[in-house]
Amino acid sequence: MRYPKLRELKEAIRALIKGPYTAKFPYEPHVPAKAFRGRPYFYEKDCIGCAACVEVCPAKCLSFEDKAEGATPKRTLKIRLDMCICCGQCQLNCPTEKGIILSNEFDLATTEKRDVLQQSIEKELFLCGGCQEIIAPRDQIDWVARKLGPLAFANTSLMLYFFGEKSLAEIAPQPSKMPPVLRSDRFQILCPRCRRQAVLKS
Ligand code: SF4
Ligand code: SF4
Repeated sequence: MRYPKLRELKEAIRALIKGPYTAKFPYEPHVPAKAFRGRPYFYEKDCIGCAACVEVCPAKCLSFEDKAEGATPKRTLKIRLDMCICCGQCQLNCPTEKGIILSNEFDLATTEKRDVLQQSIEKELFLCGGCQEIIAPRDQIDWVARKLGPLAFANTSLMLYFFGEKSLAEIAPQPSKMPPVLRSDRFQILCPRCRRQAVLKS
């Protein structure tokens, strides 16, 4: 017969006196350790809609959809929590570091439809003033302009955006026309291709 080692014996006696190590969840609420990686949350205020998190998500539970039609073009970012493996890559690669953050919530079991295990947020999109292609979400342009500071003035579209925000220039309304790009379009927020065309014509 093999006898238990002293360490195991000590643990057994400790468990007899202090109770088992395992949590009594679901009969009692369980508070996970500080470093526990639970369900992620989008934080709309700090998310710039860049979709970097979508690119790095190994479980493909993050997605985005762009709708350029309508009065306000929008990007919708969505997370499906029933597919999330709580790896933390989204949070790790978020440029603002606060757009998506993992919580310590782990109890996601539900008897409802899977739709309840989703979160989505919307971001306004900026379209090119020439060809109407999507440039980026407004919040992303704003974030890049602020990050660059005075260097943003080296980029005409960023400069125009900055002036527009300060009411020093009128940001061109979302485009209502299609190419050809004209020389006067240089004073619009343009995608790189239309910017090249407008510059070549000037
Ligand atoms: S800002 Fe962060 S959370 Fe928002 S789309 Fe980009 S990577 Fe994702
Ligand atoms: S924690 Fe991992 S699996 Fe879940 S959304 Fe973020 S990157 Fe995707």
